[in-house]
Amino acid sequence: MSEQTSLFSNLLLRKFYEEKLKEHLDRINELKDEKIIYITDLVYCPLKREFRRQYTEISFQFEPYMVLGDMVHKGIQEYLSDMGYEIEKEISKDVEVEGTSFTLKGRMDAFSPNRIVEIKTARSGSNLPQPHHLMQLRLYLAIAGVAKGTLIYVTPDRFVEYEVNTENIDVQSIVKKHVKKENIPMWEWECRNCIYSKFCPYRNL
Ligand code: SF4
Repeated sequence: MSEQTSLFSNLLLRKFYEEKLKEHLDRINELKDEKIIYITDLVYCPLKREFRRQYTEISFQFEPYMVLGDMVHKGIQEYLSDMGYEIEKEISKDVEVEGTSFTLKGRMDAFSPNRIVEIKTARSGSNLPQPHHLMQLRLYLAIAGVAKGTLIYVTPDRFVEYEVNTENIDVQSIVKKHVKKENIPMWEWECRNCIYSKFCPYRNL
């Protein structure tokens, strides 16, 4: 073993990093576009999307828990693909708010005309299912016009599934609240994990 490799092998890390960075760079114009709202944006503080649009380059994140999450997704998606699901299926919908048109965009983990499956990894198996994950899956169901969804969690101590439907979801009203920035932050815990908290004047810590 050379001195250099004993310090740092770089065998897989660079590959993971380049893949994630390419994904970010491929989307950079879209990430700056004020008319594009990702469906996942709708379940978080609306200021995050604003900061991401303005500081797109520094919004790139590369963390071990993300690689772990990606690996779990890829593994479970392989099973779902064998079961006939379409993997990483994209959906979009145009929504108008007070005369301005926005495009909602999303990518579902696994889709079939009868069921959408969303996979989540979490550090703990407590307090599940999380409200923002339920909201995200309900938005996919409503936009794709599918009646049933399954939210799957894989945590260090639990593997659990929840059946989800479209109850209490009004896409138009959620988009309007997001555009008008009515809930800043959206959740009590959000500022603690927010990559923009260092320069956000509204952080609630
Ligand atoms: S620090 Fe809090 S209020 Fe500011 S962008 Fe992040 S989540 Fe929103």
